[in-house]
Amino acid sequence: MSGSALFDTYARAPIAAERGEGAWLIATDGRRYLDFGSGIAVNALGHAHPALVKALTEQAAKVWHTSNAVRIPGQERLAERLAAATFADKVFFANSGAEAIECAVKTARRYHYVGGHPERNRIITFDGSFHGRTLATLSAAKNPKHTEGFDPLPDGFDQVAFGDLKAVEAAIGPATAGILIEPIQGEGGVRPVPNEFFRGLRRLCDENGLLLILDEVQTGIGRTGRLFAYEWTGVEPDILAVAKGLGGGFPVGACLATAEAARGMTAGTHGSTFGGNPLAMAVGNAVLDVVLADGFLEHVRRIGLLLKQRLAAVVDGHPNVVDEVRGEGLLIGLHCVPPNRDVLAALRDAGLIAVAAGDNVIRLLPPLIIGEAEVDQAIARLETGFASMEAGAPAPA
Ligand SMILES: *Cc1c(COP(=O)(O)O)cnc(C)c1O
Repeated sequence: MSGSALFDTYARAPIAAERGEGAWLIATDGRRYLDFGSGIAVNALGHAHPALVKALTEQAAKVWHTSNAVRIPGQERLAERLAAATFADKVFFANSGAEAIECAVKTARRYHYVGGHPERNRIITFDGSFHGRTLATLSAAKNPKHTEGFDPLPDGFDQVAFGDLKAVEAAIGPATAGILIEPIQGEGGVRPVPNEFFRGLRRLCDENGLLLILDEVQTGIGRTGRLFAYEWTGVEPDILAVAKGLGGGFPVGACLATAEAARGMTAGTHGSTFGGNPLAMAVGNAVLDVVLADGFLEHVRRIGLLLKQRLAAVVDGHPNVVDEVRGEGLLIGLHCVPPNRDVLAALRDAGLIAVAAGDNVIRLLPPLIIGEAEVDQAIARLETGFASMEAGAPAPA
C-alpha cells in the first residue's frame, strides 16, 4: 500500500508536475527538469506549444464531443492529411496506442473474412515487442512481465524470434492473416529492425497474401526524422497504428490502412465513443501543421544526428555506466552497465528526465523541437549524472 487512493500500478519518480515550457518540466517544488522523456514520446512539440494551446482552447470554446453519430469535420481533415502524407487511404481514430493496434488486428481479420477466408485470423508477432496493455495487445507481445496473472489471454498471435526471417517463414500457415512489427522496438530496448528484414517481411506477405501491419505508435509523427519510420525502409505496410506523438499530449490514436486492407471495416463493424472527438482532432491537425511544415523533419534529422554524436563522446567517457548508443532521429537508447533504474535516478537528480526500456536501456525521447541549447544542457546533465554514479554516490530515493 502506497497510502495513495490510486492503484499501485506505477513506480513513479518523486517529481510532482506543475507546468511545462518547451523541453522543460517544472515541479511543484520549483525544480526544473530537462524533459527528455516527453511523457514517453508523446509531447512531440514539447510542453505548452503555443499552436497546440491555441488549437485546443479555440476548439474548447466551440464543441468538445459529439460521438461519431455525426460528421466531425476536423476528423475528416486529419484523416485526409494522414492519407495524403502516407501509403494509406483510410483512417480510424481511437484514443490510445493499444486501441489503434486492436483496430489494426480487427482490420486484418475482417480483410480475410470478407475475402472468404475467415480461418485466416492469426497474426505473427516478435519477441521483445510491445503493443500495449489491453488483453489482445498483451497476447500479441507475450512479455511475461506484463502477462503474469492475466490469463486467459485472447488467442490468435504466433510469436517468433526478432529478426529471424526463416522463423517467420516457418510460422506462416493456412490460418495466418498478417505480420505485426514495430520498425524500432521502443519498450524492448530501442532495437531497430534491419531494412533487409523489412523487405523480407514484405516479400513474405506478398507471396502469401498476408497483411503487413506496423506498430508506429512510438516511432510515428517525426520521431525518427521522417513522418513515419517505414519511410526509411523502402517498403510500405498495409496497415499502420500510430498514437503517442499524434496528439502532442492529447490522447489520440489512429489506425491507417490502404483501401484494400480496410475493405472489411464496413458500417457497424467497429467503433469508439470518444475516438476522433473534436478536441483531439483540433490538436492532431495542429501537430501536423508543425511537423509537416517545410524543414521541420529535416531539423529532427539534423538535431538527432548532433545528439547522437555528442552522446557517443559521453559513452566513451563513461564506459562503466553506458556502453552503447542506439536508435534513429530522436528515439535514442543508451545501454547501461549498472541497472538502468539506478542510472535514471542519477540523471533525475542531475535534472534530466529519461525513460526506462527493456534490455537494460534508458531512452532519450526529447521533444522534436529541441535545439542545440537543449542538446548542450542534456549532455551536461548526463555528464553530471554519470560522474555521480562513478563516484559511488547513492542513488537518490
Ligand atoms: C506506447 C506503445 C503502445 C501502447 O500505447 P498506449 O497508448 O499506452 O495504449 C503500443 N505500441 C508501442 C510501440 C508503444 O510504444
